[in-house]
Amino acid sequence: MAQRLPPILEKVVRGETCSGCGLCAGIDPAIAMTRDARGFFRPRAVGKAREGSDALLATACPGARVSPWAEAPHRHPLWGPWWRCLTGHATDPEIRHRGSSGGVISALALHLLQTGEADRVLQAAMDPERPLETIAWRSTDRGGILAAAGSRYAPASPLAGLMAELDRPGRLVFVGKPCDAGALRQLCDADKAIAARFVAILSFFCAATPSQRGTDRIVEALGAAPDQIARFRYRGEGWPGSAAATMKDGEEKRMRYAESWGAILSKEVQFRCKICPDGVGGVADVAAADAWYGGEDGYPAFEEAEGRSLILTRTARGDALVAAAEAAGRLATEALAIEDVVKMQPHQAHRRRHLQARALAVRLTGGFLPAMEGLDLEAAARGEPLLPRLKATAGLVRRILEGRR
Ligand SMILES: Cc1cc2nc3c(=O)[nH]c(=O)nc-3n(C[C@H](O)[C@H](O)[C@H](O)COP(=O)(O)OP(=O)(O)OC[C@H]3O[C@@H](n4cnc5c(N)ncnc54)[C@H](O)[C@@H]3O)c2cc1C
Repeated sequence: MAQRLPPILEKVVRGETCSGCGLCAGIDPAIAMTRDARGFFRPRAVGKAREGSDALLATACPGARVSPWAEAPHRHPLWGPWWRCLTGHATDPEIRHRGSSGGVISALALHLLQTGEADRVLQAAMDPERPLETIAWRSTDRGGILAAAGSRYAPASPLAGLMAELDRPGRLVFVGKPCDAGALRQLCDADKAIAARFVAILSFFCAATPSQRGTDRIVEALGAAPDQIARFRYRGEGWPGSAAATMKDGEEKRMRYAESWGAILSKEVQFRCKICPDGVGGVADVAAADAWYGGEDGYPAFEEAEGRSLILTRTARGDALVAAAEAAGRLATEALAIEDVVKMQPHQAHRRRHLQARALAVRLTGGFLPAMEGLDLEAAARGEPLLPRLKATAGLVRRILEGRR
């Protein structure tokens, strides 16, 4: 008899609400992540699912339930719970340069390793064997953190190896997209023994995960022979930094961020991301993002600058971590008014305001949606007049009916 996924995962995969985080494979060896036709990671049954997996995944899988935001001293309808709102950067110039924006996530993770508070950092990085692919990565030192710095705009399942990590002793830091962080947060809520292993969950604002095909299209446009590529990055090494393929002969072929993201990757995103209610990393201890200057179109109003991150501390633990990294001289920060975040993140603001309208379109067409309680979608929608929201619903209904989800 063919092996079957737990019923909740069947619904998630059929409803296209799987984000590809790998949590299911990370908690049950009967599930493996495999690539679909566009190169997104999706769960596949490789054995008989454990008893209890279905119930656990119904509360922890981000395709079934999006983690609700926690209480904090402040809460913004677009940006979620926060303790402090800052801009900042790593003080280590190499980390700042290699980081996607200001290298803040890398600096915080390294701080936890160097102070001995954590033993390993679970994150995502380029596969050294197959540079066009992105793998779950484990860092124990500065070299590992530097290798993983920068954003990979491609499918990654950073939670797929979770069980193996938990089987080994040690305290862990997790870095992942908001859906990855939400999955782990929900698992920690369900299992206090797992929660006790994590020193911090770090995340970032995320517009969407593009398919692996998006990477292939960049490589094609660069005229780079895939088998001659020694290293491939999407960002970093400057701010915003270019997508770049370093060839085996040392030549570097580059594409500007506005072109790689704007013209290619943003057209290749999975459906789950279009209805994501928490692209702002609302349940992480700390969420970082690009603190662009200017750029009303959502792109930086400059070619290259020294990296700067937006930083939202979201829990008491995250706030203390940022304060400690700053006191240790690993991070430099400045206060930012929460009202100014919208200037740096116009796309995220638009998306949060339209989310309820998009979710309605899925409901009207009989589609499956993850539970989305406690994410202030009503409050976010109030920031947008009714007509554009109705248009958003109608537009998505039309695309769904035309088979263009
Ligand atoms: C798919 C994607 C979409 C994004 N969308 C936005 C956006 O809309 N707005 C915005 O401001 N910022 C976005 N970012 C985040 C942004 O590019 C920076 O990561 C953020 O500004 C933090 O920068 P930093 O220099 O502090 O991080 P760094 O110090 O460079 O650390 C980045 C960390 O992210 C991890 N990482 C990289 N790629 C992945 C991945 N695919 N899956 C899981 N973990 C990963 C790395 O392992 C590393 O630990 C996105 C990132 C990704 C990967």
